Amino acid sequence: MRFVDIPGQQGVKNLIQSGFASGKIAHALLLSGPEGCGKLPLALAYASLLLCHQPFDNDACGSCPACLKVGKLVHPDLHFVFPVINQGGDSDKNTSDHWIQDFRRAFLEQPHMELEDWRSAMNADHRQANISRAECYNILSKLGLSAFEGRYKVVILWLAEFLGDAGNLLLKILEEPPDQTVFILVSAEPEQILTTIRSRVRSIRIGPMDSEAIRLALMEMDVQEQRAAMAALACEGNFHKAMGMMNEEPFENSVRWTGFVRLAYSGQQSEAIKWINQNSELGREALKSLLDYGLQILRECYLYREIQRDPRSLREDEKEFVHKFSPFVSAISLSSMQSALEKAAYRIERNGHVRLVLHNLYFDLQEALASEKRRMAKASAPVAQRVSKVTTLQFPMR
Ligand SMILES: [Zn+2]
Repeated sequence: MRFVDIPGQQGVKNLIQSGFASGKIAHALLLSGPEGCGKLPLALAYASLLLCHQPFDNDACGSCPACLKVGKLVHPDLHFVFPVINQGGDSDKNTSDHWIQDFRRAFLEQPHMELEDWRSAMNADHRQANISRAECYNILSKLGLSAFEGRYKVVILWLAEFLGDAGNLLLKILEEPPDQTVFILVSAEPEQILTTIRSRVRSIRIGPMDSEAIRLALMEMDVQEQRAAMAALACEGNFHKAMGMMNEEPFENSVRWTGFVRLAYSGQQSEAIKWINQNSELGREALKSLLDYGLQILRECYLYREIQRDPRSLREDEKEFVHKFSPFVSAISLSSMQSALEKAAYRIERNGHVRLVLHNLYFDLQEALASEKRRMAKASAPVAQRVSKVTTLQFPMR
């Protein structure tokens, strides 16, 4: 992993790379930022740079033996620490070493992985994950050894907010690390990290990724232009989310969502139950992506209604939906539907009962649309005429 392989975040890259160029290597660095901002890949790019045999232009070369080992996460001087589920008893099982194969697999599959990906790779279900005291002792003993390749020893401590009080065991080594030792802490919630640790590290806050950088990165991955633009727009600077969108069939989302809204609009409850039964088997990630899609398309409807913004990044069938559905998406109905979708996404993320969540969503959408229709009917006469024309449009198109 090189800096050049990571989309955007030029400011953060410059900060790290200029530190390296000037020889001022922070012995403990904290990279923190929201989901999908690239913090873990940036940590790995920095580790690659420190361990590379022939860095070029303040970036790792990507092809020397050290880079190849870092790329597979098997470099003997690169250590990973991350939260693992506590399996009780045997403390060896509660360390990153025990889970390292799974971690490598998960990371190589998705370098922008986040906690939820990792929890599902561990089949964590409802079990807590943390970074234990046993883990901290493990780090201390590893860092007591000299570097295998005689260069740096690098520890990437991913999701350092999971350290809890065990982190106190690391205070001394963070304060006075052995020579050529670099800690790279990565965190999504830096405020949860012990203040005693935070005060000992150099902190770099990373913002969401630039949407243009995401669009270009997706296109480099051979994603079709329109789809890349749509995902870059919808992912809100979250590259992890943009990548997730690439794994699902976007067309499926639009077909599913259109179907669901049509049922909520017409109040066909028995058909809605069928839809819910079919789609409750989709899996939580797919459902979250469907809800995200729904939210995005509703916003497009509202913008089209208010400022006639034509949704250029949408496919033709989606545009048609936006054109036809936009009369029903006022600021009021948008707000109700948006809360309903956010509530559903929140419950799905927290393992709520999927069918129940979708039933509630159906009723909430139905109510929001019915209220909007009532408001439209009450509106003044000329408007009412316009509205009655609108409501006789065949909606939605399929
Ligand atoms: Zn190299």
